[in-house]
Amino acid sequence: MAEIEDKLAELKTRLAEINDLGMAASLLSWDQLTYMPQGGAEARGRQMATLSKIAQEKFIDPIIGKLLDDLAPYAESLPYDSDDASLVRVTRIDYENATKLPPEFVAEMYTHLAASYQVWTEARPANDFAKVQPYLEKTLELSRKYSEYYPGYEHIADPLIDMSDYGMKASSIRKLFAELRDQLVPIVKAITSQDLADDSFLHLHFPENQQMAFAESVIRQLGYDFNRGRIDKTHHPFMTKFSLGDVRITTRVKEDYLGETLFSNIHEAGHALYEQGIDMALEASPLGGGTSSGVHESQSRTWENLVGRSEEFWEFFYPRLQTEFPAQLGGVTLERFHRGINKVERSLIRTDADEVTYNLHVMLRFDLELAMLEGKLAIRDLPEAWNSRFQQDFGITPPDNRDGVLQDVHWFGGFIGGAFQGYTLGNILSAQFFDAAQRAHPAIRNEMRQGQFGSLHGWLKDNVYRHGRKFTAPEVVERATGAPMSITPYIQYLKTKYGKLYSL
Ligand code: ZN
Repeated sequence: MAEIEDKLAELKTRLAEINDLGMAASLLSWDQLTYMPQGGAEARGRQMATLSKIAQEKFIDPIIGKLLDDLAPYAESLPYDSDDASLVRVTRIDYENATKLPPEFVAEMYTHLAASYQVWTEARPANDFAKVQPYLEKTLELSRKYSEYYPGYEHIADPLIDMSDYGMKASSIRKLFAELRDQLVPIVKAITSQDLADDSFLHLHFPENQQMAFAESVIRQLGYDFNRGRIDKTHHPFMTKFSLGDVRITTRVKEDYLGETLFSNIHEAGHALYEQGIDMALEASPLGGGTSSGVHESQSRTWENLVGRSEEFWEFFYPRLQTEFPAQLGGVTLERFHRGINKVERSLIRTDADEVTYNLHVMLRFDLELAMLEGKLAIRDLPEAWNSRFQQDFGITPPDNRDGVLQDVHWFGGFIGGAFQGYTLGNILSAQFFDAAQRAHPAIRNEMRQGQFGSLHGWLKDNVYRHGRKFTAPEVVERATGAPMSITPYIQYLKTKYGKLYSL
C-alpha cells in the first residue's frame, strides 16, 4: 500500500508541474490579449510555444504511462466517482490521446495554422476566399490525418469532436441536431413573420464607466467571486484561469450599445462560475477544469440567456438599470425592454445572432464540416454550399463571403471538425440543467425576482461544477438530470418564452 501511495503521490506531483506550465502559458496569453504592447508579439508567441512544448514532453514521458499502468488495479478497486479513480481514468485517456499524436504532426499543424490564421486576417476584410482556399485545403487534409491517428472511429469527425466534447459522436450529435432543426425552423418562421422587436433604446449613448459598474454589480450578485477573479478589457471577450483561485474574465465596451458589455460579462461570468465552482481538491490536476465545450457553454448560456434575458431577472434589475440611465431608459417600460433584449431576426453573423436563430448558424457549420471531412464537399465549393444552405435556412443569401463563409475564425485557425457543435450542445444542455435545478428548487424563478440566485447556483455547483472533469459530458448530464441529453427541455423553454413574447 505504501508503494501505491508513493506512486500516486509521484503521479500527482508530475501532473501538477505539467498543469503549472500550462497555467503559466495561459497567463502569458491573457497578458497578450489585454495589456501587452504590440512589440512583444513575436517573443510572446515563442515563449508560449516553449512552455507548451515542455509541458507536452513531460506529459508523454513513458514514466507517466508506467505510473498509470501500476496504479490501474488500485484505481479499479475504488468507487468510479472517487477522486483518485477518476484521476487515473481521465489521465489515461489524455495520455493515450497525447501519445498517439506524433510530435512532427503537432509541429506541422501549429505552423500551418499560424500561417492560415494570418492569411485569413487579410482575406476576410478583402472578401477574398481564393486567398485562403489553399490553406483551408491543407487544413482539411491535416484534419483528416489527425483522425487517422485514432483508428477505430465510427465517423472521421469523431476524434476531432473528442477534443472538445469527449464522449459525443457525429452520429449522436446529428440525431440531436436533426430533431432540434425540425422543431426550430417553424418557430423561427413564425417569429420572423411578425414585426421586429424595437431595441433602438439599447443603441443610445451609455458611458463606459457606468456600463462597467452596472455589469460588475450584476455578476457579483450572480455569484462571481471577485476575490478569485477580475475583469479586464480586450477585443474579443473570453474567460481564462490560472488556478481555481484565479478565474478571470475579459470584456469590451461599446458606448453606443448597452447589450454588449452587459451580456458578454454575464456570458463570461457563467463560464467563470463553472471554473470557480470546481472542488478545490482537484486543483492543479487534469480534473481541475470544465468537462467539455458543450457543458461549459451550457453554463455561459444559462446565466446569459435563461437568467440574464428572463423577465424575472429584469423585474429585479430593471429599476436599478433605469436609475443608472434615467435619460436613456426612463421612458422605456420593463415589457418593452424585455422584448428588445430578446429581439429575434434573421441575420448573417453567428456571434450576433439571438438565442432562437443561433442554433441554425451552428448546425449549418456542423453539417458542412462533416461533408468536407467525408469528402463530399470540396473546399472550392464551400462558399456556394454555405450560401445555398443559408438561403434554405434563413431565407437570405449572404451578400459576400466576408459575412458568409469567412466570418468565423474556427476553420482558419484550427481544425475542420469538432469546432462548432459545443455551442448548440450548450444551448440544449442549459435548459436541461435548469429544468432539473427547478425540479429540485421550484422557487428558483421567484427567487430571481428578488435578485437571489443562490439556489440555482448551489444546485449547479453540487451537480455540475464541483466535479470538474471527473465525468464526461454524457455522464454529468445523466447524473445531474437523471436522463440522457435531450432537446425537449430546450424546445419547451423556447416555446414558453417566445410564445409569450410573440404569441406563437
Ligand atoms: Zn462561451
